Amino acid sequence: MLRPWPILLALALPAAATTTNHDHNHSNICQTLAHHHPHLPLTLPSSPLYPTHNTYWSARQTALHPACFVSPTSTAEVAQTIRFLTTHRAPFSVKGGGHTAFEGGSNADDGGVTIDLVGLNSVVVSGDRGTVSVGAGNRWINVSEVLDPLGLAVVAGRSSTVGVSGLALGGGISYFSGGRGWACDNVRRYEVVLASGEVVEASVEENADLYWALRGGGGSSFGVVTRFDLVAFEQGELWASSRVYPGAATNRTLIPLMHELLVKGLAEDHAAHTYFVMTYAAELGGYVVLSDEFHATHSDLASPPEVFAGFHDAALPTLSINTRLSNVSRLSRDIEQAPGLRQTWWVTSVAATATPDLLLDIVPLWEEYVARLIAAAAADNSTVSPFLIYHPISSNILEAMQVNGGNALGLKPEDGPLMIVQLTLSWTSTGMDEAVETGSKELIDKINALADSRGESSKNGYIYMNYAGKTQDVFAGYGKQSHAKLRHVAKKYDPRGELRDLWKGYFKV
Ligand SMILES: Cc1cc2nc3c(=O)[nH]c(=O)nc-3n(C[C@H](O)[C@H](O)[C@H](O)COP(=O)(O)OP(=O)(O)OC[C@H]3O[C@@H](n4cnc5c(N)ncnc54)[C@H](O)[C@@H]3O)c2cc1C
Repeated sequence: MLRPWPILLALALPAAATTTNHDHNHSNICQTLAHHHPHLPLTLPSSPLYPTHNTYWSARQTALHPACFVSPTSTAEVAQTIRFLTTHRAPFSVKGGGHTAFEGGSNADDGGVTIDLVGLNSVVVSGDRGTVSVGAGNRWINVSEVLDPLGLAVVAGRSSTVGVSGLALGGGISYFSGGRGWACDNVRRYEVVLASGEVVEASVEENADLYWALRGGGGSSFGVVTRFDLVAFEQGELWASSRVYPGAATNRTLIPLMHELLVKGLAEDHAAHTYFVMTYAAELGGYVVLSDEFHATHSDLASPPEVFAGFHDAALPTLSINTRLSNVSRLSRDIEQAPGLRQTWWVTSVAATATPDLLLDIVPLWEEYVARLIAAAAADNSTVSPFLIYHPISSNILEAMQVNGGNALGLKPEDGPLMIVQLTLSWTSTGMDEAVETGSKELIDKINALADSRGESSKNGYIYMNYAGKTQDVFAGYGKQSHAKLRHVAKKYDPRGELRDLWKGYFKV
């Protein structure tokens, strides 16, 4: 059975502890931590607060049960916690907004400790309105709710409850990426707790190698970021249009329009942003397509920005249209996806080819997988919602990524434009887990093989960390040079490999 249609619209230490290393039964680590640092906010499984900390977007993460949650309320408390955990060789994980789809992405198991950053929740706008200092436990909605009334914005995530931390450390696709790059390109300065518990700043001027690595290299190889200083800019309401089309037939019209945006339209209009979602909704007659369009400066509801005109052709059949002017907070709530289901995200990217054929030829591969998923769900008495999403990385975005010496993603303007091809599936029964993981890997492999067979570019296969499946080799997609530099930086700031060994469950350089 497929899940109901509305889900698509929803898309729209003071001193180090004295105990010796290696002498700990991990199930006792929380008692030892409480003993050494009685002031640290610590939540044991017996506490009524435990389920609140153990709430994650994906049910696969909530299914894990760390020995305890530590929820520091200051950088000093994060430093005490990290120094304690590394000294005691205790496995741990770090929860920002908790939106990783796969189990263990930001929750510890097997007697490990999860550091929940929720207490680092300050949002402070600088006197000159040019910077916003954001505590690492914030969700993007906390930031936009402060900035919207001030007529300011940052290059943020598009969905309200997603964490600032994970999104900005892995990259960060935003409504404003056309002119400004990804979220990571718009961080001025980080405050970071290293494996040793030392607190450092990272910016263009200070620890520049760490600053580079945190812009796309993720957090878990380098340290716990406690504060992000983000570039702020003046911004009023955005124009937005969510348009749902009946699928299979319109793909042949819509995908060429998307290709045209990728290779030309978006590069010519830096205020425009879009993504394109394909799904299957039996109640709507089968395959449907959502085009979500945004424009940072257009304010005329009567006519679309020129760049999106093709999608608004009256001859194109639509199932629903929702065009509005909206601030970032309202938009990001519209795009929210409810928590509580089992989730997987997988991703690849393909370099733009001269014609839309490659983007069109991916669709039958996806449809064949959807048919298999429907059969598997029926056999398992489960529900499944499948989505294939195209996110353009047009040449202007690649150019904007080169600020401050470039980020760690390994993407250069000459590599593009690129189209991210993201697969996202949510389902209800654990019985489906293996079929979903195996099938998703197979689909991504087939898309990569198809792209490589077209032979127009060697830049296929960039893997966006924030959309990657648990077993994907994210850093291979960054290219050898960027990967080697990331390893070098990780070794410099974590010389004993403590984060590498103890921080469980995410993509390590
Ligand atoms: C509904 C939804 C909408 C999304 N929308 C977008 C979007 O618009 N654009 C986009 O680019 N991505 C988007 N994503 C993907 C999102 O960027 C990733 O899921 C990201 O990892 C979420 O960050 P988080 O803090 O919520 O995740 P978490 O699972 O808490 O963290 C992710 C990783 O970062 C580590 N980490 C967390 N905090 C810190 C820290 N302070 N220091 C060091 N490491 C840390 C964690 O240990 C984990 O390894 C979306 C995801 C969902 C589920």
